[in-house]
Amino acid sequence: MVDIAVVGAGTMGAGIVESAALAGLSAVMVDIREDALERGRQTIGRDLERRVKRGRLSEEERGEVLGRITATTSLEDCAGAPLVIEAVVEDMEIKRRVFADLEDVVGDEAVLATNTSSLSVAGIAAAAERPERVVGLHFFNPVPAMRLVEVVTGPSTDLAVVGRAEEVVERIGKTPIRVSDTPGFIVNRVARPFYLEAFRLVEAGGEPEQIDAAIRGAGFRMGPLQLADLIGHDVNLAVSESLFERYYYQPRFRPSHLQRSMVEAGLLGRKSGRGFYDYGTEGEGQEAGTESSEDVALRVISCIVNEAFLTLSEGVATAEDIDEAMKLGANYPRGPFEWTEEIGAGRILATLDSLRTAHGDAYIAAPSLRERAAGAEL
Ligand code: NAD
Repeated sequence: MVDIAVVGAGTMGAGIVESAALAGLSAVMVDIREDALERGRQTIGRDLERRVKRGRLSEEERGEVLGRITATTSLEDCAGAPLVIEAVVEDMEIKRRVFADLEDVVGDEAVLATNTSSLSVAGIAAAAERPERVVGLHFFNPVPAMRLVEVVTGPSTDLAVVGRAEEVVERIGKTPIRVSDTPGFIVNRVARPFYLEAFRLVEAGGEPEQIDAAIRGAGFRMGPLQLADLIGHDVNLAVSESLFERYYYQPRFRPSHLQRSMVEAGLLGRKSGRGFYDYGTEGEGQEAGTESSEDVALRVISCIVNEAFLTLSEGVATAEDIDEAMKLGANYPRGPFEWTEEIGAGRILATLDSLRTAHGDAYIAAPSLRERAAGAEL
């Protein structure tokens, strides 16, 4: 009997299978395409090879890890797995079909999970005969390196199922964080202003090098423009557009026209050779000092904090979990509520209020942040 089955052997599926096998679990990797399975195997093989070279894994262990992985095109091979994680393409209809097919194959006790980033767990679960056994398990890329897994509870999900999914996440060596089924969950939502504010600053005439340097100065590993170049502007824009639509066009989620025109021009970032920076000739993200660097960082952090307060007030997750998720899933140096302590709710509120006066309703402060600034406890 296997410990876990993963459907979809792409970037995420292969990463989940590798992480599970590294943690000692036996794993079945399913894909409809032979070539996708082969690519998945190669990706895993290369990563294990790197671990051996760095001395983190012995040759013998590498063989054992590979021995725990079975690759197959047959969904029936998920039959004995107590947990199946779906990681196929981000398409509601395809995912719903996978869940309906899976239910014919797995046992009564099996937990079914989806790795979706931008679809609702509710919509996927509704295709199952027993939606109460469907949960979201949102892993982060690259999976073997990222510790966070957002465990998403849909409106029909049974809490015992959530508990069992969390146990497996912990066995894989990851940190589960509970979140309700809302667009972007915690990380993709609370991180949105990190990019959007940086784009707005460039649109207003800011220099990318200076903006990135200011943000790095506040302790972030990479500036938002560097990071968007790395992720790819097509991918980053698609996330923004999806969140904007799913939050019913609230102005703070409005995607950037600048980013859209960069995508249309083929300036996708690192993968196309040019985005905010040129990867053909010069380096990227040169250090540059700027007089207003503190203002830039305070603006971006204030918007992140505001989104975190909104997320908290909507009951999506606890403050501790939001802090932990942002540190683990987005590599932030602090969580938004830790920043609130450090910077002061009053200063963050004043920053948002003056942005609102200057630029409009995208900067309406969360009522709970206003209360906090007035002295209320969280
Ligand atoms: P991908 O395109 O790399 O891989 C998808 C795989 O699914 C392909 O190999 C494809 O052949 C396979 N597939 C398609 N239909 C199938 C079916 N019916 N049965 C079995 N296999 C099928 O995609 P990805 O980037 O790995 O993303 C997978 C999921 O994970 C998506 O829901 C995505 O939103 C989510 N996700 C992606 C990231 C990321 O950074 N890439 C991060 C978190 C979550």
